[in-house]
Amino acid sequence: MKTSSISRKSIADWESRFPLLKTITSADEVFWVNPNKEDFKKAAAKSPLSKADVDDADARLARFAAYLKIDFPDTAPTNGIIESPITEISSMKNYLEQTFKTSIEGNLWLKRDDLLPIAGTIKARGAIYEVLKHAEELALKHGMLSSIDEDYAVFASDRFKNFFANYKIAVGTTGNLGISVGTVGAKLGFDVTVHMSVEAKQWKKDFLRSRGVTVIEHESDFTQAVTKGRQQSKIDPTSYFVDDEHSLDLFLGYTVAANRLKDQLSEKNILVDADHPLFVYLPCGIGGSPGGITFGLKQVYGDHVHCFFAEPTHVPSMLIGLITGEYDKVSVKDFGLDGLTVADGLAVPRTSGFVAKVLEDFFSGAYTIDDHMTDQLLSALIDQEQIFLEPAALAGLPGAIRLFQTDAGKEYLAANHLTAKMANATHIAWATGGSMVPKEDMDRFYEKGRQTVNLH
Ligand SMILES: *Cc1c(COP(=O)(O)O)cnc(C)c1O
Repeated sequence: MKTSSISRKSIADWESRFPLLKTITSADEVFWVNPNKEDFKKAAAKSPLSKADVDDADARLARFAAYLKIDFPDTAPTNGIIESPITEISSMKNYLEQTFKTSIEGNLWLKRDDLLPIAGTIKARGAIYEVLKHAEELALKHGMLSSIDEDYAVFASDRFKNFFANYKIAVGTTGNLGISVGTVGAKLGFDVTVHMSVEAKQWKKDFLRSRGVTVIEHESDFTQAVTKGRQQSKIDPTSYFVDDEHSLDLFLGYTVAANRLKDQLSEKNILVDADHPLFVYLPCGIGGSPGGITFGLKQVYGDHVHCFFAEPTHVPSMLIGLITGEYDKVSVKDFGLDGLTVADGLAVPRTSGFVAKVLEDFFSGAYTIDDHMTDQLLSALIDQEQIFLEPAALAGLPGAIRLFQTDAGKEYLAANHLTAKMANATHIAWATGGSMVPKEDMDRFYEKGRQTVNLH
């Protein structure tokens, strides 16, 4: 396996240039600090995107709140805003500290995107935003809306649904992106086609079909499902493709979470400043959701926020892309990894080049998590906090442990003069999904995790 050549270098050449790659290609857990991260001011000056882009997306979602409230009554309690609560998880923190014999200085919170309305995963942020933006553009272009100042409740009318029935939306997905795009797209009236990769769970396909979405099942991985979907959509001028690898709108939809989190933390009187650092641990698939949220958080908190992304040991696509500097030109499969993981939402063998390049200046680092650890944390979180997450959503949980336990983590704290301030730190593990998982599947995950725990 280890003989393929990537960008005219053998795996051995790559590993001698970047020794950490050896651990990564052996599918062992790592913690990596990003050597290319810049001070926020410098990074912001270089970036093609800015706070204005985040605020523009935020304003668009605010315009659509009047519509979402009508067609998706589960958004009524938040007035049509798709947002999730944060929960402090002290019991789980104790469990982590005891299990890994490491103390987590500061407080540990969970961002509950498993409870997001409409779709119950983090994709509800980016994907729904992109579909709404496309709908807005069509409505303005064809005179259905005269200006963005109109009341967007009209999007719930039959007149609008009949109009959108003339248009198609397509997407390629490991499952969750399709759920978000399909649910909102179909409700607005679009003709939606979802291309599912081999990981996609049967219940996700059934769910979408029950909502009138066309589901095409591919026997191939995510990257190939996206490629096929993109090709088919391209030949039809009425079809719009939500492109997880390249979409700026998807990315901007995610960034808005930062403005909302800022309000939530201040409501709870949680300070974030030079003496009160914020650490955020984000599960990473193609990179859009952790990238967008990190970008937004950096605009809000600058150097006071430290964002780490988390990938499965068998699918560290963003990590390999950044370490080698080859971004989306390399796949984990080029490095002899099989790309298989229980964390289906993270099963993306090739990262987004666009996100990797924009975020390289902003990410603090990354780590990988073994599937057994994912299983164990899934059942532990149920035992400790009665919180039910899907496997991908657990990846953020060991982040704080790794920060305090690894040499690389300790060096990061020392280099940033944070060691003495950590008692004031806030750690947030971003829980990216879970509430839609059928009970039989969750029971199975739980039992598997219990057995893993018993092995220790
Ligand atoms: C998609 C997904 C992620 C990762 O988001 P990317 O934009 O692919 O990096 C994390 N968790 C869950 C549950 C997901 O569905």
